[in-house]
Amino acid sequence: MMASQGFEERVRTACFAAIRQRQAVHGEVLPVEVIREPVVVDGEAVAPFLLQRGIHKPRQLDAALAVTTTPPKQGVDAPYQDHFGADGMFRYHYRDPGSTTARSRSQADADNEAVRHAQRRSLPLVYWYGVVPGRYRPFYPAYVIADHPETREFSLDLTELGARHLDDLAADAPSRAYRAEIVRSRMHQARFREAVMRAYQHCCAICRLRRAELVEAAHIIGDADGGEPVVTNGMALCKLHHAAFDRHILGVRPDLRIAIREDILAEVDGPMLLHGLQGFHGQQLGVMPRQRRDRPSAEFLERRWEQFRAAG
Ligand SMILES: [Zn+2]
Repeated sequence: MMASQGFEERVRTACFAAIRQRQAVHGEVLPVEVIREPVVVDGEAVAPFLLQRGIHKPRQLDAALAVTTTPPKQGVDAPYQDHFGADGMFRYHYRDPGSTTARSRSQADADNEAVRHAQRRSLPLVYWYGVVPGRYRPFYPAYVIADHPETREFSLDLTELGARHLDDLAADAPSRAYRAEIVRSRMHQARFREAVMRAYQHCCAICRLRRAELVEAAHIIGDADGGEPVVTNGMALCKLHHAAFDRHILGVRPDLRIAIREDILAEVDGPMLLHGLQGFHGQQLGVMPRQRRDRPSAEFLERRWEQFRAAG
């Protein structure tokens, strides 16, 4: 069927709104069960995501609605190594036929054509970045900005800045590298967060709070100080303890004991200060990753401890 331009757009608007709402509840990275829940537009149920296909064009549409990269499976890379091109844009590989049959070739061609269709009509889509098996970080609105038949790839703009931004992208070459860096960093941070949360079983390392919505992945050596998004540079901390750690109100000694800054220890206030901060002074961390290779690096802890002492 030929979908009207209006319908193509309404589906996209509805999908983006649904994803935004689901992220407000579940966080930035969404589980498969949450994202495959259909969105209803003009009485039609449209799935915003399809697990088995890299390129997703719902039957009611002419243009692709979503493209997906599979998460790496325990040390094995995804079937396509997606990367950034010389233009600074994220490169998404064409769908290859699953076999040599004519049917399989024509399915692959139709899927690739659906992506070109989105490009020609400047229709935004969702790029689902596989973080870990079963969990995806959506980038939207994503735009298809170029087709590279020689390498069988599409260039996607994943900066989430919207259509108006496409003209400056063409004009503004130096900032393209910077924009690629933003996208790459979002991808790395998503993987970092998942790895840290998993290693600490979704609990705050200080107080053991296990409410996932209130627990974050903290950097031991901050981004700005060259700290890398790797699990040995991370700790899961609840929002209070993350903020206290970042502001050097709370420190972690290299022997994994918690320290509260001296002036904070002397303060008198209500139960939150008493139990939430002062009470942890001198205690051992509440949670440590079971796997030794996931534990905080001694070198990063030393460096961070020096920063804490300098702040006190
Ligand atoms: Zn906590």
